[in-house]
Formats: sequence, C-alpha cells, structure tokens
Amino acid sequence: MTTISNRLQDILATIQSAAASSPSHQQVQLLAVSKAQSAAAIRDAYAAGQIAFGENYSQEALEKQKQLTDLAIEWHFIGPIQSNKTQLIAQNFSWVHSVDRLKIAQRLNEARSSILRPLQVCIQVNVSNEESKSGVLPDQLEALAVAINVLPNLKLRGLMAIPAPTTDQAQQIAQFKQVRECYDALIRKGFALDTLSIGMSNDYQTAITQGATIVRIGSALFGARAPLKAA
Ligand SMILES: *Cc1c(COP(=O)(O)O)cnc(C)c1O
Repeated sequence: MTTISNRLQDILATIQSAAASSPSHQQVQLLAVSKAQSAAAIRDAYAAGQIAFGENYSQEALEKQKQLTDLAIEWHFIGPIQSNKTQLIAQNFSWVHSVDRLKIAQRLNEARSSILRPLQVCIQVNVSNEESKSGVLPDQLEALAVAINVLPNLKLRGLMAIPAPTTDQAQQIAQFKQVRECYDALIRKGFALDTLSIGMSNDYQTAITQGATIVRIGSALFGARAPLKAA
C-alpha cells in the first residue's frame, strides 16, 4: 500500500466514526483537495478508491485533468473565481463550491452546456472571517440563493465556508454552527439543500459533529503542499 492509500483509509475511518457520533448521523463525503499536488499523486489516490478531487486554480487543474482523462474523476472547483475563468470552470468541473456573487453564477450558467448535467453549486458564506474577502455575508445569502435557484444550468446544493483558522475547538464549533444556522434557515424557507461543505485537515472531525456532509481534505491526505511559488 502507498502512503496515500494508508492515509486515505485512516481518514475514511475517522470520518465514519465522527459521522456515527454526530447528532444527525449524516452521510459524509471526502473531497480530496489536490491543489499543488501532482497528477501522479491524484492517480495514487484514485487507485485507492477516491473519486472526488478539489482544485483551487483553473489553469493548474486543467493541466492535471489533461493527464488524467482515463480516470472517471469527479472534479470540484473550490477556489476564488475570477470572471474570466468562468467558462473554463463551467466546462471542466462537475461541482463549484465557491460561488459568492450573482454575476459569477450567471456567467457559469451561460457557459455550462445545457446538454450536460447542471453544474452542482454551493454558495460560499463568509462567517466570522474578517480577513477573507471571499464569501457572501449571511444577510445577503437568501437573495443570492433565490437568484441562483432559477438559473437552469446550475443546481444549488448547499453552502460552503472556510472559517478563520483556529486551533481553539470552541471557536471552531462556534464558526461551524453559524454556517449550519444559515443552512438550516434556507431549508426552512423551502430550499432543497443537501450539502454542507465545511471542514479541512485540521478540523474535519469537529465539522462533522456540526453537520458537514462534504469535508475538503488536502494535507492530511497528500502530505504538506509544496509552496505555490518558487522563493
Ligand atoms: C487548500 C484548501 C483545502 C484543504 O486544506 P488542508 O488544510 O490541506 O486540508 C480545503 N478547502 C479549500 C477551499 C482550500 O483552499
């Protein structure tokens, strides 16, 4: 077994036990975050059974996708979205977790071919992360959800968040609870959502106890990332 395969089995077991002790006993999916990892590393994880991979940069993702066309990978885009990248993203990914404004949603909708399955999208919410410019503020979330819901080539599945990094578990819980409250509020208003994309390598067990249905894990699976830019 490779290191990646060993780590994958450990993470899946940890996810299972966290989900079993979570109040909602929800199904939890692992998204393997492969930014800054090689196509070969993705191939290893796929050989060990992992299907869904997340990428943050469209150019980097496309280069790897070209080397992996023989694999039935489900690609998720999870990074900030510039308007001039919406076409690449709409044509080469199944999911987008990081939609946070209407203009981007409209451009993705226009670029997504209507003969494909609709692009599965999450709205990124900015909870208690003052440094982050990404994510819609909770008080503007419902309006954005209403507007996205009528776009025919997008399917709104739920919410994503990247809380401010902290090792304080109480603070992790408080941040995840905020996202969960936004999610529950939309469901009470009648939105048919099933996806809460929260939790990364350092906090995914906590995220699962707060209702995560997708955890996005990079370094715990692949090891530390190489720096993105040469020093
Ligand atoms: C990099 C990244 C992750 C994974 O982070 P790790 O700490 O390596 O697990 C998850 N989500 C997003 C949006 C990321 O950019």
